[in-house]
Formats: sequence, C-alpha cells, structure tokens
Amino acid sequence: MTMRFTARAAALPLLAIAGLAGPARAQPTVKLSSVRPGNGDPVLVTVTDAKSRPKGKVDGKQLLFFESRGGYQAVFAVPLERKPGPLTVTLRGGLPSQTIDILDDKFPETQVQVPDEFVNLTPELRKRVDEDNRAIRKSFGKANGPPQFRRAFQWPVTSLPTSPFGEMRTFNGVARSHHLGMDLASREGAKIRSINEGTVVLVRDCFLPGKVVVVSHGAGIASAYFHLSEMLVAEGDLVERGTIIGRTGQTGRVTGPHVHLSVWALNDFVDPAEFFRLAFLPRESPLTPAARKSAAEAKSAAADKQKDRDKGKDSGKSAGRGKSGK
Ligand SMILES: [Zn+2]
Repeated sequence: MTMRFTARAAALPLLAIAGLAGPARAQPTVKLSSVRPGNGDPVLVTVTDAKSRPKGKVDGKQLLFFESRGGYQAVFAVPLERKPGPLTVTLRGGLPSQTIDILDDKFPETQVQVPDEFVNLTPELRKRVDEDNRAIRKSFGKANGPPQFRRAFQWPVTSLPTSPFGEMRTFNGVARSHHLGMDLASREGAKIRSINEGTVVLVRDCFLPGKVVVVSHGAGIASAYFHLSEMLVAEGDLVERGTIIGRTGQTGRVTGPHVHLSVWALNDFVDPAEFFRLAFLPRESPLTPAARKSAAEAKSAAADKQKDRDKGKDSGKSAGRGKSGK
C-alpha cells in the first residue's frame, strides 16, 4: 500500500516536467519482434513515427517496408544456414540500426524411408528437380511488390502439425536436408486454403514436392503448398484469405497424405509456426483498380458456384459424400 502511494507521488513531478516541455516531437521508434531469434525464424520490424518510408538492409537484401497502421513494417528471415551470433539490421534515414543475436539452437534429426527413386536420382530426374527448385525460387521473387493482405495470416487447414520446420532429415540413410516447411495432418482430398490474400504465382507438378501451388502475398512473403492431389487455381489468379487453392494429396516424396506448408519471407524460408505469431498491421490493400475488379468478378463467380452447390445440396442432400467431415 505505502509503496504504491510512494511510487505514484514520485511519478507526479516527472509528469509535470514532461507537461511543461510542451508536446514532445515524437521520435521514430524501431521495434523488432525478436532480438534473439533462431535460424529460420521470421523477424518483423515495426517503425513508428517515421517521417517517411524507412530504408534498410539485412543479409544483403533490401528490406521491403510497407505502410502499416501507425507506421511501417517489414519482415525478414534469419537465414537457416547463418552461424549463431550477431546479425545487423542496417537502417537509414536517421533510424538506429539494430543488432539481433542468433541463438545456437539445433534442429532435431530424423530418419525417413521413401521409395529409392526419390533419393538416388537418375541424371534426368536430377535435372527435373533442379528445374523445379529454380521455378519455385523464381516464384518467391514475385512476392516483392506491395502487400496484398489486409488481415492476419491464417493456417491453411485446421489440423495439428506432424513434423516441424527445420528438422534435419536423412532420407534412406543417405540424403540429408532441412525440412523447409511444416507438415500438417490432413486427409486425402481435404480442402487447403490460402493463408492470406495474394496472387497465385506458381502452379506446377514437381518431382519431390509433388503438385505445388505458390501464392505471393507481397512484402516479400510467399506461401507454398506441397503434395496436393488437385491444384484448383491458375497462375495469375487473385485469391482471398481462405480461398481453396487445392486438395490434400500424397504426390511427390511423401510417406502419406498431409499438407506441407512453406513460408518464404524476403530472403529465406521461415518457420510457419513463428510466422503466424507475427503482429502484422497492414493498411488498406494497395491492389490496383484492375486487380480489384478482377478480384470482385472472381468473387461473384465463386459465390454463384456456391449458390449452385447449395441448391444441389438442398435437393440431393450431399449424395455420395457420406464421409466428408468438417
Ligand atoms: Zn513437409
């Protein structure tokens, strides 16, 4: 009791002094979502009270600041292969540069058995895999425009993860690689939804990741969905948060049906679980009028389709779909 009164009394003179100084000119502040992240963690940079759009660089890449409620934000990845220790976020325009300290945490090791053709690649398949990888990387490069999302990111399915991001996998005792996404439990044929608004930048049947859809969300962010049984969008399509982009399958190098979600943030893959925790505060979507029009048309076409489906359901009561849950 006494302590609290004392503290309050002590605070009063300070407030009075601040008041006397008149309305203080707000200094820009820089906040990082994490200063001690691990490899593969995303970091959200939030700048408030900046007079103009901030500029900066990290890991040799230009930060893509976008207008957010109350300031500007940009996201980057702590590179997977970067050694633990300091990493500098260089900011310009009177903003103080920031240093993060990359933690030395290890990813778990696992052994995975798959059919041998997925591990000991023939020269032709090696070539195909390289081409697939190049196409996927190239599609991530298309995410460098302004943000297309206005709301928080949402999981593509409502199920539990079965395999974490970053895990070091050894396939058939020989091929070793990081797991560059997160696996989510899902039944064959289940709907997979876009984690936010964006543009479909890749629809491709690949060898290792199987049928792949990549959605660019802008601001350097892209989401990739692997091993689909069906790809239900086309390159160039604008999608909403929650638009069904495909169905769960087991195409490519898998041990069973599941959804593999990869999230790319500016310069590398990031842990989706950490990414979904970031407090993005984007402003009104900067979609062009033409993009808005085509999005509106796509939406009304989808609504018409839904109406037709509902009509069918009323009369036929989902005939032949006995076991579809959720
Ligand atoms: Zn996976």
